[in-house]
Amino acid sequence: MKKDFINHFRKDSKHLDKSTETKPHTPAKNPEVEIAKEMINAYRKHYQDIDLDVLRNLIELKDITNAPKQANPDASFNAIEQRLGEAESNETLRRERWHNKISCPNCGSHRIRNLNHTEQKAHGNFRYNCLECNQYFNASTGTPIESGSPPLSTWMFCWYLLGCTDSLQYIANKLGLDLPTVEAMVRQMQKLFKSQQPLTHFMSFEEWSLKHGTSYKKRIQHEFSRKQELYRGDTTGVPHDTREYARQKNRAHNPHDHTPHKPKPKNRAT
Ligand SMILES: [Zn+2]
Repeated sequence: MKKDFINHFRKDSKHLDKSTETKPHTPAKNPEVEIAKEMINAYRKHYQDIDLDVLRNLIELKDITNAPKQANPDASFNAIEQRLGEAESNETLRRERWHNKISCPNCGSHRIRNLNHTEQKAHGNFRYNCLECNQYFNASTGTPIESGSPPLSTWMFCWYLLGCTDSLQYIANKLGLDLPTVEAMVRQMQKLFKSQQPLTHFMSFEEWSLKHGTSYKKRIQHEFSRKQELYRGDTTGVPHDTREYARQKNRAHNPHDHTPHKPKPKNRAT
């Protein structure tokens, strides 16, 4: 789009004869693609504190655990194993425990300071400092997961498998634990995460766009049509009625809406 703008400006400054132009000025980018890109960016912004690869893996993990449950989900087990690394385990715990609202496990305050990278202990294991009571903590602090036995990765693997099967015996066999241990782990996680299913509060891109997508799409479409007009200037062969069309449409929608004052583009040749 920027390139189009520059080309348009060059044509004007060189005073080219417009009759020699063989085809009308057409936008190089597909508006639909641009809208999709913008929406993906807005989704990324929503989850900007997650590393991009980890985010991608969490989306796939959510899809895997959202599939219908099976008695013997070996394919899902392998798919989870491929995607669930150290960073994903830490991120899952962080998402599931706090649902984006981090609170101090000691005093419950939301006045939290994020410790910087050099103060972190491991990849994706974010640590925090409470500004009320000065406690240092991470996502496992004050939970049964904190002891490290079984390790965090086993807890999270168990949690994801719970989305794939109702058979706790299957989970116990696969993770090399006894059944009472798995039963206790599942109970503790369901209570701690206030959920029966993995990643209930984490939105995949599809879920996000269903919830927020319409408003973003409208806004981006509007911005896009405005940009198009601005860049087109007075190039021949291009209809000039797009802004008026939008105005009419807006009036039909809201008859009391006044036409906003918009300055003319500075590069418009007169
Ligand atoms: Zn505190």
